[in-house]
Amino acid sequence: MYYKEITGVRVSALGMGNMRLPKIGNQGEKIDREKAREIIDYAMSHGINYYDTAYRYHGGESERFIGEALKRYPRDSFLLASKFPGHMMEKKGNGVMGFTSMLAGHPDSTVDAVFHEQLEKCQVDYFDFYLLHNVNENSLAFYNDPEIGIVDYLMKQKELGRIRHLGFSSHAVSAATIDEFLTRYEGVFEFVQIQLNYLDWILQDAKSKVEAIRKHGLKIVVMEGIRGGRLASLPEEQAARLRAARAEDSAARWALRWLQDIPEVAVILSGMSTMDQMIENVETFRECNPVSGEEKALLTEVAESMLSWVPCTACRYCTEGCPMGLEIPKIIAAYNGVKNGDNMAWYSPAEKGEAMDPARCIGCGSCASICPQQIAIPEIMAEFAGMLKNRGK
Ligand code: SF4
Ligand code: SF4
Repeated sequence: MYYKEITGVRVSALGMGNMRLPKIGNQGEKIDREKAREIIDYAMSHGINYYDTAYRYHGGESERFIGEALKRYPRDSFLLASKFPGHMMEKKGNGVMGFTSMLAGHPDSTVDAVFHEQLEKCQVDYFDFYLLHNVNENSLAFYNDPEIGIVDYLMKQKELGRIRHLGFSSHAVSAATIDEFLTRYEGVFEFVQIQLNYLDWILQDAKSKVEAIRKHGLKIVVMEGIRGGRLASLPEEQAARLRAARAEDSAARWALRWLQDIPEVAVILSGMSTMDQMIENVETFRECNPVSGEEKALLTEVAESMLSWVPCTACRYCTEGCPMGLEIPKIIAAYNGVKNGDNMAWYSPAEKGEAMDPARCIGCGSCASICPQQIAIPEIMAEFAGMLKNRGK
């Protein structure tokens, strides 16, 4: 493992993301604790010291799991990062907060109670890194609201030693949103976590976001470095081009080596769901081996050939609120496949089951309002349903 630094703290270049832990069964968010613990133990014994979680991951169980798993190790042997869920909260008056989106239905709470609940679930006295979760165009009003005073509250917690370093994550559409937030709170935030990979460099203009963060002299924690696994299983045409250039490397390794080339990148998070993924990633990060100029140009060409993809990262934010119980990311994956050359004839909602039938979408839009990638999901469901209906005509 090689190491980088964030404000003087030595961080492993590969970080363990805890949003996609191994699960029991295909549905739901129940963590397979035994398998997940084995993955954490492998990570700890192979030099990974950065562990990222959040209030809402795995329906709230991720924090509890990682707390249990890391408690078996000395507190100074790991760095724990969690996030305040302000992007899914609303002010109700008198300091009381309600929850929205995927957290709707959670009992009302307060900023202080949520923060202390997180410490308790993670079984720690302090977070090494603490982030505002998803500062974007929609959540700015909450995070900037002086009556809520979330930034002042967290700075106070920092003074009290309950937070060592403050940052925020962002799925903002525009780099200007990140720049303006950093300018407003210049000197408060010490790092920024963004979605970054060679496809989003172009598709979501991540290049401008890196430049905005660079302007403020901050380091980057990367999320979605392989786009929820999508860049690990490329369509055959693109995969063949990478194999021809470097037969020994997987598509995932290409994506990670592209990230190793960006100087501001400190930690590259990977939400590893299997031991095989962990073993391969640890090997990739044995040393820093960034792509060459030629390899980078090849990845740019590969990215440009995939720009028609719907940029779903399979985060599953959308699925819990779907009244029809649709497997939205899986349907989008099939839609992407069909749009990029897969034979539509094989896709049969009748065989795959109701959850895989885009024609069952009622267009309520609750998915689109929560999607961090701002994907127009109802429109895609309608288009895919139409394509399936009209096939062969
Ligand atoms: S718009 Fe369709 S896919 Fe989205 S939540 Fe509603 S029914 Fe589900
Ligand atoms: S459609 Fe959006 S919210 Fe749903 S899984 Fe994909 S990226 Fe996540």
